Amino acid sequence: MADVQDLKRLLSRLDGRGYKAYKELQGRRFDFPTFTLVVDHVQGDPFAPPSRLRVLVPQEVARFPRALYGSKSREVALRDALTREVDRALRAVSGRRGTGRSGLLAIDRPGQQVLERTSVFIDDERVEVRFVAGLPARGRTVLGREAIAMLCDDLPRVVERALFYEHLDADALRRHVETAEDADWLRARLEGLGLVAFVADGSVLPRRSGVDDRPMVEGAVPFRAPASLRVEVELPNAGRVTGMGVPKGVTLIVGGGYHGKSTLLRALELGVYNHIPGDGRERVVTDAGAVKVRAEDGRRVACVDISPFIADLPRGRSTTCFSTDDASGSTSQAANIMEALEAGARVLLLDEDTSATNFMIRDRRMQALIAKEHEPITPFLDKVRPLYRDHGVSTVLVMGGSGDYFDVADTVIAMIEFVPHDVTAQAKAIAQAYRTERRPEGGERFGRITPRVPLPESVDPSKGRKAVKLKVHDVEEIAFGAEEIDLSAVEQIVHPSQTRAIARALVHARRRYIDGRRTIPEILDAVMRDLDEQGLDVLSPSPLGDLARFRRYELAAALNRLRTLEVRQKRSA
Ligand code: ADP
Ligand code: MG
Repeated sequence: MADVQDLKRLLSRLDGRGYKAYKELQGRRFDFPTFTLVVDHVQGDPFAPPSRLRVLVPQEVARFPRALYGSKSREVALRDALTREVDRALRAVSGRRGTGRSGLLAIDRPGQQVLERTSVFIDDERVEVRFVAGLPARGRTVLGREAIAMLCDDLPRVVERALFYEHLDADALRRHVETAEDADWLRARLEGLGLVAFVADGSVLPRRSGVDDRPMVEGAVPFRAPASLRVEVELPNAGRVTGMGVPKGVTLIVGGGYHGKSTLLRALELGVYNHIPGDGRERVVTDAGAVKVRAEDGRRVACVDISPFIADLPRGRSTTCFSTDDASGSTSQAANIMEALEAGARVLLLDEDTSATNFMIRDRRMQALIAKEHEPITPFLDKVRPLYRDHGVSTVLVMGGSGDYFDVADTVIAMIEFVPHDVTAQAKAIAQAYRTERRPEGGERFGRITPRVPLPESVDPSKGRKAVKLKVHDVEEIAFGAEEIDLSAVEQIVHPSQTRAIARALVHARRRYIDGRRTIPEILDAVMRDLDEQGLDVLSPSPLGDLARFRRYELAAALNRLRTLEVRQKRSA
């Protein structure tokens, strides 16, 4: 067994040699007095992606109380909290120690959401931390002394500061895991309460800016539920909490421009995830099966049955198996909805800001001018109720522009200067007083949700001689083999580590489950089961620290946006 002295000797010996000499470290373990350092991968040069390392701290030293990780919710939250601690400590010592990435020490940095990640693991035996290091060099010449300072002096300090329970803020850690546990607990009970979402009184929904997801600092109006929608819940840790319950069924969010409608909807979109204490949305909780759908013109669509919304296209084009390389606003929105339903969505979230107008509404005057036989689209207006009645799928819809929806809504919430009001009764009275005289177009039933079977040859991650070639850019782009998958309209991916995991999950799905027989929902079930049973490491042959858990809907969204995807439909008997 090598120890820290062996590591120092080795690094001194490498000093002044070519960068490739660092490869001697790869696959080795070094026992420090309080932890073990494992070198999983050594970078090829100082400009390449940094080297991948792990630190294993035995619980005899780290001493985290079991109560902090004794349930799945708590474990995920503690791992998230420790990732943040390590991030803070590494940033304090990370710096330039030569050329390129020399001197970099970093861990996957979380945003406002608490996600299951591969950056930190914890059990009764030990804490495992995965991070990266830029091994120091001047040009291509190893700087052994800098490497010693980095790995043998700085790193032990980081471990001590961020991974010894006694050095951490115990109250903050407890709050972190309790907050996440409360949110998970409530999310699992929404259905039983007849709700699709809960927004606690006092929540702060607006963000600092469009590119800064932290809470607004000045002038934020805290959330306050209207009395008629106020619900009281008894959380396991926080105790009694009141807030607005968004009931199942069809809910409209109305209000003037700039009064906070989209901000509320965005909070509901992200309420499928847990948030860190202090975020302002840590008690905004949405049904885990809620999917934001929007128009996305230009996207590809592979044989989706969009006939509930669109039929009789010009030139007799099929809409029971609708394919295109360049969808319009309305056809893309119809496809997005049908794909979400195929993947098992239980709630749809829509915002007029990102919807196609002709998909959402068709008023009486337009009905009079353009006869139904010349309009392929049945607007969402006529399908939103059948969707709930036939399939139990609720909708929350931001709609400031058309009162036609008053007829089909169960609940109408008006945002007035950022404060929600229950205006359901008024909206219903108005619907009586000012009849739209529209002819309903939707028919009796919603229509079929037809599952599809992806064909294995059409999902090909290879490029050139490489069997698997993946590259992820930010949250919204996957280079999958020779193809690009554009996820910029998939709004519930919140971290690049989710996108990285989704890219690998596509490969995993292709290898194990995309067999020309299984349907997309069956494939999603199988992949998610693997993640539940074996964790995110099932997606990679070697330990990676930058993967995060994603939902089945976002995996489906990535598969559906692969431009080579071919499917056949599986009609139920
Ligand atoms: P709408 O969709 O009704 O047009 P938005 O939700 O886009 O309005 O909000 C408009 C602006 O008001 C945004 O800049 C947003 O950050 C801000 N805002 C939203 N909610 C609040 C709030 N509760 N307190 C303060 N500002 C808010
Ligand atoms: Mg808006």
